[in-house]
Parts: sequence; C-alpha cells; structure tokens
Amino acid sequence: MGQKVSPEFIQTSLAASLTLGFQNGSFHRNAKLKGLNLLLHYDEGCLGKCHFCGLSKSRQEGPKGKTFIRVDWPLYPLEEIIERTKAKDQIHRVCISMITHPKAMEDTLYVIERLKKNTDLFISVLISPTLIRHEDSLAAMKKAGADRVGIAIDAATPQLFDQLRGKGVEGPHQWNHYWNVTGMGVSVFGKFYVGIHLIVGLGETEKEMVETIQRGQNMGAYTHLFSFFPEKGSPMEKHASPPLDQYRRIQLARWIINESLGSANQMRFDENGRLINFGMEVESLIQSGEPFMTSGCPGRDGKVACNRPYGNERPSGPIRNFPFMPEAEDIEEIRTQLGLNKKSIID
Ligand code: SF4
Repeated sequence: MGQKVSPEFIQTSLAASLTLGFQNGSFHRNAKLKGLNLLLHYDEGCLGKCHFCGLSKSRQEGPKGKTFIRVDWPLYPLEEIIERTKAKDQIHRVCISMITHPKAMEDTLYVIERLKKNTDLFISVLISPTLIRHEDSLAAMKKAGADRVGIAIDAATPQLFDQLRGKGVEGPHQWNHYWNVTGMGVSVFGKFYVGIHLIVGLGETEKEMVETIQRGQNMGAYTHLFSFFPEKGSPMEKHASPPLDQYRRIQLARWIINESLGSANQMRFDENGRLINFGMEVESLIQSGEPFMTSGCPGRDGKVACNRPYGNERPSGPIRNFPFMPEAEDIEEIRTQLGLNKKSIID
C-alpha cells in the first residue's frame, strides 16, 4: 500500500471514477462529466493546513487524503486511467491538482508528459503556488503540454486567506505570493489562460468577493466559483454554506465581469456589503441560465469542460453550480432563490 503513490498512482474525483467505469453508478439528471480531475497522492498528504480542506494536515479524522472536496477521491494507476480515457470521447480536458508536497512539481511534469503523449486531451494544472518561485516552473508545465493553469486562491480577502490558510493555521501559504504566481501564470500561459478559484461563504462580504473577481479579471484571470461546503472532518465542518441568494448574486456578478458585460465599479452594495444593484439589466442573463453553470476551463468546443458534477452540493440539491444548462423549472427556482418575486434585488 505504501508504494501506491504519485506519479504512478493518482486519485480521481468520484465523478471521474464513475465515468471511467472504475465504479458503477449514474449521475443525477444525467449530468455528463467532460473534465477529468486528477489529484496527486502521497502518504504524507498535503503539507498545507487550510482550515476548510479535507486534505489538510489539520483534518481531524478519517484516513489521510481520503476526501478532498465533498466526496471520496479513489486512487488508481495512472496507466489505467490513461487507457480508459482513450475510449471516452465525452472527456475534453484533464486537470492535474498538485498538492503542497516536495515531490509535486516533478511528478506533475511527469503526469502532464504522459497524458500529452498518450491522449489528445487539453491539460490544465491546478498549481500549488507555494511550491512555485519562478516562471520557469510554469514554463516547464507549458512545454510539457499544459495549456492552462488554475490557482486556488479560495479566500477572497487577505485577512481571510491569512486566517484560514496562512498564519492563522500555521500554514505555509501567502496571499501576496498567490497573486504574484497568478501574474506569472498570465505571463507564461497568456491572458485568460489562467483561472483563479474562489470559494463563496468563507466569511467575506459580497462586495469583497466581487472586487476580488474584478481583480482577477483585470490581470487576465477568469474566476472559477465554488460554494463553501462544510467538509466533514475539517475544522470548518460546522460552518454553514452561504445562503443561496448570496451565491446566485455572486454567480451573476462573476458572469457580468468575466464576460466583460460590466464591472464591479458599476455595481452597488448596501452598508453590509450586500450586492443590491448590478448596474445593468440582468433579467435576460438570468433567463439564459448560463451564469449559474459551473465555471471552469473550456473543452474542445470552447464551452466549460470542467463541469464538476455535484462537486459542490449533494445531488439531492439544490444545485449551486449547474453541470448542464439549467432548464425552465431550474430558472424559475433560481428566480425564487434570488428573491425576484419580492422584487428585492433588482431595480
Ligand atoms: S477549472 Fe477545473 S480544469 Fe480548470 S484549473 Fe480549475 S479544477 Fe482544473
């Protein structure tokens, strides 16, 4: 068992495991996985101590590395994952999540090269900025075959970042460094070939979240949005998920900013930092349903490939990130969640 570590073994998301036929099961409402998420695995786990993460060193119970975001991440041989992927046209992209571990950089390059050589998938890397000191490391990933990188900034303010990922938990991560590496990513991979991950509901105001999304946009990085989920066994297991109306407003604001339809400057907030006016007509955006779909790296068709079905909520719902186009009933539900019937958020 001790030998089953990266790079020859790698964890997959549960959705990937089902799609590749390692396990039996089907997706609620026939959601189709288009992006394969892989996660490096070491016996020592991740050296980060992030307060909200199931992989963190401060995790209180359960086998090390057993869970990451919400569900199990089973471990398989890389070779077998590659073989099974070849028969799956529905998969457009693969994403390799590094973790903060001394071997992660070298092993990530190895996994990129193997995937590049043996598949025609686009390759993203969810990088660990703490391991990256120079652009050279990113350039090496690009040379090996990656076309995009993601950076999990997660917390929307320097205070929250420090408190949940940095000094507050005696963790190694630093806010400024994460943004510096975001800049390096843009310089190596190009504008909008970089995505930042942000988690709604860690304690930030809506204004702070919107401003951070705008900061990323100004640098050339899209935001891939997550809704906080209390990871069992993590120190934040008792912290509630953000209210649905808050999450829906942030999804709309992200869409407006990332699609360059408007900017944070034009949006208005109340004294508690709650978004009360988008500064533009949003009914048609809501009706399109697109702002509420999962945001992530694109696939061969230019549409989001990293749709992470049910990576953010229980399949029993309510769905926060739609892995497919929301249907008419979903839009109705979203309108209710936004409180539109009360005519409260939009002038
Ligand atoms: S959006 Fe998905 S594919 Fe892109 S970096 Fe994030 S996890 Fe990876």
